[in-house]
Amino acid sequence: MLTLQKPKMNFSLRGLADQGADTLVVVSGFCGLCIHVAFCGIFALLNLWPMVAINMLSCIFWLYIIWLAANSKPGIAVHLATVEAVLHAVLATVVLGPNFGFHFYLWPVTILIALNQTVKFQHSAIISVLSILIFGSLSTFVETDRTDDYPAQLVDGIFFLNVLVSGFSMILSGMLVRRMFSTQSRILREHARTDELTQLYNRRHILEFLQNTEANRHRNHIPYSVCLCDLDHFKSVNDLYGHDTGDTILINFADFLKKSVRKTDCVARWGGEEFLVVLTNTAGNDAVDTMNNLLTGLRSEHRIEISEDKHLSMSVGVAEAMGETSVDEIVIRADQALYRAKEEGRDRVVIHGTDPLISLAHVSEQGSAAK
Ligand code: GH3
Ligand code: MG
Ligand code: MG
Repeated sequence: MLTLQKPKMNFSLRGLADQGADTLVVVSGFCGLCIHVAFCGIFALLNLWPMVAINMLSCIFWLYIIWLAANSKPGIAVHLATVEAVLHAVLATVVLGPNFGFHFYLWPVTILIALNQTVKFQHSAIISVLSILIFGSLSTFVETDRTDDYPAQLVDGIFFLNVLVSGFSMILSGMLVRRMFSTQSRILREHARTDELTQLYNRRHILEFLQNTEANRHRNHIPYSVCLCDLDHFKSVNDLYGHDTGDTILINFADFLKKSVRKTDCVARWGGEEFLVVLTNTAGNDAVDTMNNLLTGLRSEHRIEISEDKHLSMSVGVAEAMGETSVDEIVIRADQALYRAKEEGRDRVVIHGTDPLISLAHVSEQGSAAK
């Protein structure tokens, strides 16, 4: 018997975007921390002990920034990181001069602000432009030059390191944002073709699938069949158990349907309590057998009781794609066969006939037996 377990549906695009933003800020935070630990060593080499002390404080500050980002406060974390990075770049450049390359950290800061979705669009535009203006001013107007106080190789090494780390931070920010966008667009594509309640494909997707299958039939003469399944008396299921339980039954039935067909077939929620199954490489009579097996399953191990003497059943209309026809026409034929199955007493499979005179003639023999 199907268990009435309603799966949790906690999908949220907004949540996903936020998660991506949080990750970006946490990773950037770790980069910031590593850079400042390295700074402590560099400034110790330069015997600039006040700068070592400032960097130690900065490390504590960056730990706080990581903590904020990890605790879903990426907005504040980004603001603090920006302020710290800008102050640090300005302070180090003013004290040592632009030849040490500390002002290059303003580039990743600018990129990070411009790309970060947790900052308002106008704010991020203004702060990014300001950041670049500060970079330009530091490069052009700061006249301090402490290069003569230290060995030339050490100064060159620090410059090279600063450019490298700033560049890597920029690349990392770009890559993370790129990954975030591709994850979001994958989820959006998935969302656009999935039925929210049952997580089966939706009508749009199966119609696309049908077009491809029909094209394949014309090219390679491979048959296929369309089965329209409609749960019987579902209104009374809702009336008896309530709408929520009705939803759970739909979810469980969808699961059962999906597990009962091959991976190459396609199952979709056509609407309400109707499901469309496309059985690839399957002639009409084989499709009837498959659907009858499904009905047998619903009557035995997957039985869902509606009342003491009634179980959940379905009626199925089957149509095999034949001759010159359109996808819409095949679905209409399956719908006509389904209508006939309902008329014949439900809980059965009916196939749309090829000969108009005996059309809809192949009524499932198993149908009424279990009623
Ligand atoms: P029949 O045997 O003729 O198909 O009878 P039926 O009651 O299944 O058909 P009808 O078209 O009269 O009613 C369909 C019912 O399916 C009514 C509607 O409330 C229910 N239904 C459609 N979509 C949903 C859904 O998403 N959740 C639930 N719980 N019920 C749904
Ligand atoms: Mg219906
Ligand atoms: Mg129905």
